[in-house]
Amino acid sequence: MTEAAALPGQPRGGVVSGRATARAYCVLAPNPSAMTLDGTNTWIVAEPDSGLAVVIDPGPLDEGHLRAVIDTAERAGQRVALTLLTHGHPDHADGAARFAELTGSSVRALDPALRLGDEGLEAGDVITTGGLELRVVPTPGHTADSLSFHLPADGAVLTGDTILGRGTTVVAHPDGRLGDYLDSLRRLRSLTVDDGVSTVLPGHGPVLNDAQGAVEFYLAHRAHRLAQVETAVEAGHRTPAEVVASVYADVDRSLWPAAELSVRAQLDYLDEHGLI
Ligand SMILES: [Zn+2]
Repeated sequence: MTEAAALPGQPRGGVVSGRATARAYCVLAPNPSAMTLDGTNTWIVAEPDSGLAVVIDPGPLDEGHLRAVIDTAERAGQRVALTLLTHGHPDHADGAARFAELTGSSVRALDPALRLGDEGLEAGDVITTGGLELRVVPTPGHTADSLSFHLPADGAVLTGDTILGRGTTVVAHPDGRLGDYLDSLRRLRSLTVDDGVSTVLPGHGPVLNDAQGAVEFYLAHRAHRLAQVETAVEAGHRTPAEVVASVYADVDRSLWPAAELSVRAQLDYLDEHGLI
């Protein structure tokens, strides 16, 4: 779920299904839109030479896509043993129940309502399916239930909608909160600085090979927008819609409803911090 589909200086390359790292393979779902960029990236992650795969975000309820994911894994000699969700937005999670039915795998997510099977998913959990190591990183802010998955063997992190391959993400007020989101970006930055993460495998858009640069860009962008919102309020713009029209004038109008969610989150943040 994007707030600005592309920003000056960002790569505009398209996304194709295919191998991104030694352990991660992308199958692009056929749901492109202003909000989902090229469509949802469904990730198949497996240890090389293992017969077991983990799928992250089956995507929308699209039978052809779900079967394509299974076929792709099978061609690599893998059976889908586990399904994980980065968060509950429908473009990531709507296909999960059907996918679990087709694969016989359980679905693990932070939100209990999205789980199928006995196991949840929490901060600090480590997934070890088929010898793979995936560490669960809490990254609330886009939504309250957003998670990222650290894949240490490939120096990569799967970020769902917390960092996108292009543009910037929505802080989906009121569930998403800006203070949480900034903390999550800092958590991801420490993965890039302290834990050798160099690659972002996002939920939409192309793979990013400068993870630290991407996180710094997102932090700078949020600070810039926040200052703009503060200025707009000081200039007398009061309602979220007025602030959007002032601050997001450079963004396609089809994205303004999403931008308004982010503005509401920013107004909350400024209010809570006594800045307006
Ligand atoms: Zn989302």
